[in-house]
Amino acid sequence: MRLFTHALWHRERTAKTIYLTFDDGPVPEVTPWVLEQLQNYRAQATFFMVGDNIRKHPELFARVKTAGHRLANHTFHHLDGWQTPDERYFADIAATQKLLADEGQYVLFRPPYGRLTYRQYKYLSARYRLVMWDVLSGDFDRSLTPERCLARTIRLTRPGSVVVFHDSPKTQRLLHHVLPEYLAHFSQQGYNFKAL
Ligand SMILES: [Zn+2]
Repeated sequence: MRLFTHALWHRERTAKTIYLTFDDGPVPEVTPWVLEQLQNYRAQATFFMVGDNIRKHPELFARVKTAGHRLANHTFHHLDGWQTPDERYFADIAATQKLLADEGQYVLFRPPYGRLTYRQYKYLSARYRLVMWDVLSGDFDRSLTPERCLARTIRLTRPGSVVVFHDSPKTQRLLHHVLPEYLAHFSQQGYNFKAL
C-alpha cells in the first residue's frame, strides 16, 4: 500500500493535532453516540461514509454535517477494490459523491479495506484526495480486549496522526471503551482533534 505515494497517510508531525476518522457509518446504533463523545472534547473529525447508509439514514447524515465534521466518501456498497471491476467500482464511488455533492474544496476518498489496484489508484488519485492512515485502532478486532485496543492505539499515535475508528455496530463493544478514554488521554496532553 505504501506505493500509494499521492495518498495522505498522516499530516505534519510538528503540531499536537490528531485527525480522527470514522469509517462505515452513519448508523443509528453508534454514530449519535460518537457525535456526543466528540462534542464533549470539542473534537472535529472526518466521517468516511458508506453511501447506502446515507441513503438509509439521511437524518444522521445531516446531524454529522450540522456538527461541523468533514464528510467523505467510502463507496456506496463498501466494495473491495481488488474484487470489483473498475467500471463498477468507480460508478459506486460516483453515486456516493452525488450524496456528498457540496462537500468542500476537495473530495476525500478512502478505499474500503485499504484495497485498490494500481489502475484504480491512478484513476482515483486524479479525481479525489485519497486518505489512508498511520494508526489503525483495531476496533473491529474481536480478539482484542478493550484495554489492549486502547493501549495500542495510544502507543501508535503521534502528532499529525490519521487514526481509523469505525462507527459500525461491529465495533461498538470496543469503541465504547476506547473512544472516550482516547479522547481524554490526548486532551490532557494538550492535543487538538481536527477534521482533515
Ligand atoms: Zn470500511
